[in-house]
Amino acid sequence: MDYKRLSVTEIREAISSRETSCEDYVSFVLESIAKRDKKTRSYITVDAEGAIEAAKAVDAKVRAGRKLGKLGGLPVAIKDNICTYGIRTTCASKILERFVPPYDATAVIRTKSEDGIILGKTNMDEFAMGNSTATSYFGPVNNPWMDGHTPGGSSGGSAAAVAMGLAPLALGSDTGGSVRCPASFCGVVGVKPTYGLVSRYGLIAYASSLEQIGPIGKTVSDCALLLDVIAGPDSRDSTSVAPTNVNLSALKRELKGLKVGVPKEWLGEGTQRPVTRTFWRAMDKLSEVGATWTEISVDSLSLSLAAYYIIAMAEASSNLARYDGVRYGLSHETTAGDWNAIYSKTRSNGFGAEVKRRIMLGSYVLSAGYYEAYYLKAQKIRTLLKNEFARLLRKFDLFAGPTMPVLPFRFDKLPSPLESYRIDVNTIAANLTGLPAISVPAGFAEGLPIGLQFHAAPFREDLLFTAAHAFESAADLRMLPPGAS
Ligand code: GLN
Repeated sequence: MDYKRLSVTEIREAISSRETSCEDYVSFVLESIAKRDKKTRSYITVDAEGAIEAAKAVDAKVRAGRKLGKLGGLPVAIKDNICTYGIRTTCASKILERFVPPYDATAVIRTKSEDGIILGKTNMDEFAMGNSTATSYFGPVNNPWMDGHTPGGSSGGSAAAVAMGLAPLALGSDTGGSVRCPASFCGVVGVKPTYGLVSRYGLIAYASSLEQIGPIGKTVSDCALLLDVIAGPDSRDSTSVAPTNVNLSALKRELKGLKVGVPKEWLGEGTQRPVTRTFWRAMDKLSEVGATWTEISVDSLSLSLAAYYIIAMAEASSNLARYDGVRYGLSHETTAGDWNAIYSKTRSNGFGAEVKRRIMLGSYVLSAGYYEAYYLKAQKIRTLLKNEFARLLRKFDLFAGPTMPVLPFRFDKLPSPLESYRIDVNTIAANLTGLPAISVPAGFAEGLPIGLQFHAAPFREDLLFTAAHAFESAADLRMLPPGAS
């Protein structure tokens, strides 16, 4: 069967109607990984045996005449900071290089229970800190569209795997853009759900008040399918909430009456010209399918980047305190009884430079005397931004902007840490406010993909899907990178 030409829905259908077997399809994907991932490096761990075994179970279910779950035998790649029972979960860090979780994250349990097949664990920036995968202990992921360029991050492995056909669907996590940035840089679709829609149980914490697990797929409807599977309240995550109906029938091609606000701060200085050009062309397309848009100003956006990095680093410094080399993960033996020396050796050796930088800055902004000056102020900005968006959401259904202000950059021209923080300027607002957001391919410049981003009111993922799907249908971009299967 020529899987390359089939959509996710068609493959699912073929499996349930026994036109093909799940085992045949999963073997095809595993072979593609074996052939092509040496160059892309989107996976850290591939669980070929487990995937084939699960595929056989799906085939047995079909043969027995039982109805399959929503994923119907489709394989899913999982970012390596989402715990998988019995499969090593490293966070792309040396400190967790040999960590094998004794449990599944809720999102993984739900994927399996809807007959999704776990393919393996995808590469990322260490502890999800970054937007390029350059900080991965296992080496960076290559952009599927152009060698030597970043696929974006931190969920770069998940996005690159989907773009290359090395997984039809993937899960990432988004603390400040980590699903949307790589989706944009790899020419695929990525969703950051409303805070609380998806359980964070089993997601290895970076900044707990900001992050969500989100789907990555080739199309908007693929993402809607996977989000529908993983969303829902969970007694193991007290921040998860009940309103979960992700309305798939919302995928319309017309947007009559939909009002879109375009914050001018999302097209500010530092936005590269091809990005601006592609964005406005996309907005023209959106008008053609019935939406109206207005340029607006969101004043507190100009403060949001600083607020994001203060809060994210503060939470990281606290969340990462658990890696002490005593309970699990890397441990450095030293003179018996000298705990401080063990901690210090383990942490110095186990964490990379960016992670250390953030632990130090995070501890600094939380320390006596600086707490009020930095952390508290950042929280106030967060509230300002939330209120400002809430006010604007009475007038607008959606906000739109380019997902990333720049094109995927080259690994040999990596931005400095500060420059790298600055290019998150358009993605971090959704995390500070908890709003849902989506990135959908908008076009190309210099052979590299550019993403269009929408934000909506809390739990209005249906509006995101409607707008992104209408745009996707109207734009009709052919998104197959060279060598993809
Ligand atoms: N680039 C941002 C950061 O490094 C976002 C990362 C993420 O969403 N995990 O914090």
